[in-house]
Amino acid sequence: MSRIVYVNGRYVPEEQAVISVFDRGFLMADAVYEVTAVLDGRLVDFAGHMARLHRSLGELDMGIPVNDAELEAIHRELMARNALREGGIYLQVTRGAADRDFVFPDDAVPGLVLFTQAREIAASPLAERGMKVISIPDIRWGRRDIKTVQLLAPSLGKMQAKRAGKDDAWLVEDGMVTEGTSNNAHIVTRDGTLVTRGLSNAILHGITRASVLAFARETGTRVEERAFSVAEAQQAAEAFITSASAFVMPVVEIDGVPVGDGVPGPVAKRLRAIYIEESLKQAV
Ligand code: PMP
Repeated sequence: MSRIVYVNGRYVPEEQAVISVFDRGFLMADAVYEVTAVLDGRLVDFAGHMARLHRSLGELDMGIPVNDAELEAIHRELMARNALREGGIYLQVTRGAADRDFVFPDDAVPGLVLFTQAREIAASPLAERGMKVISIPDIRWGRRDIKTVQLLAPSLGKMQAKRAGKDDAWLVEDGMVTEGTSNNAHIVTRDGTLVTRGLSNAILHGITRASVLAFARETGTRVEERAFSVAEAQQAAEAFITSASAFVMPVVEIDGVPVGDGVPGPVAKRLRAIYIEESLKQAV
């Protein structure tokens, strides 16, 4: 069955959802996006995703054709029209269509596209067995805090992991892990401290990361925001990633070396359970 997609003010079957070949999102990756998880037919961490969207737009001096109330209404309408109970809603804002030129056009009208993706996220076989990752150089640009649609580097990273028979890749810059290809990377030291890279232009400021760190602190886990190396992660008690698409996902192997006992650890399992439970309570 075909999805109903939102494109620039209209709800249309996906086969009829089209944008201009002059769209700057298409020509220049001049576009930003968000992915909000859906659980039990409701939006998870929605306020956080909207706040980050506005931050990304502001950093790129880009407009958006609708206000926040309209944006929320579009999310709800898409969930209703597609009977979406669990999965995600993808949202993309582009600077709009204009004759190809590096300089921003004066008269482009910003574009907006949203679509749903139905998927099981709470029940996950991968969460049961844990992810295996490889480490690769972080070849992305210097403003990873802006959630742009330039996703070729992470895409190549995931392909390299796939060809190696692994689940994902962690990105390394100056000897330190920045983040995963599409998620934030965390470790738990042998004394039980959750270590995660601090916020900067080097990583995306994950919405799931922020919620999970808050839950960890509330439940008495010590949190240290600092960079760590692949070697430190390999020797840690546990490792895990966070994202809106994966929630909390244990990492059990890095570059062929088992982390801890090589099975999902207690801290990652507990944080995953808390995150799902709280999301179900707080989703809107
Ligand atoms: N880092 C990168 C590079 C990502 O692409 C993502 C998810 N899009 C994340 C981190 C996780 O962010 P969030 O928890 O907001 O999904």
